[in-house]
Amino acid sequence: MIAIDHFEEQLKLPLDRRGFLRRECSTCHRQFKLRWSEQDAVLLLRRLGNELRHENEHEVVTHPVSRTCPYCSASAHADAWWTEEQRLYLSRKAAALGEEIRFEQLRHVERTIGQNPNLTFLPVPPAPFRAGVRAEPDDMRVIPLVCCGEDVKVRDSWTGTIHCPFCGVEHDIQRGHPAK
Ligand SMILES: [Zn+2]
Ligand SMILES: [Zn+2]
Repeated sequence: MIAIDHFEEQLKLPLDRRGFLRRECSTCHRQFKLRWSEQDAVLLLRRLGNELRHENEHEVVTHPVSRTCPYCSASAHADAWWTEEQRLYLSRKAAALGEEIRFEQLRHVERTIGQNPNLTFLPVPPAPFRAGVRAEPDDMRVIPLVCCGEDVKVRDSWTGTIHCPFCGVEHDIQRGHPAK
């Protein structure tokens, strides 16, 4: 298990000025945004944890929470909404964390057998992680969801109804809730 406190600082994805995280539907490939929540932090950590423990795939914990696409109403596990860029970032991040963990383990070995003059290896610190994602633009319009007391951000050009990502209820955004 990785030390959560130590890595928590690094586990941030860029949010826009209002605190929204970009999401992408794997069915229709349209993007929308939801506010960053504690649950996202848990999902992020879990995803990194899973990538770091490929050899123990049976240990992967399943999460019962699902989300609905506001555009096409497809529903999927809450962990299924990363954009391509976020996925790439997360697997690079997992690889970098893996290297850091191996380095710490080697250093530990080095410390514990430090008196041994025959020690023939020197742990090399991994290169600093630089594969950042772009800053998140403050695009899309906010639609308040009265059903769940949440907000969703959808494409400015979207004129159809939208589905609440949390409960799936359909909203008519033309008449019901004008954009701010
Ligand atoms: Zn969709
Ligand atoms: Zn709802």
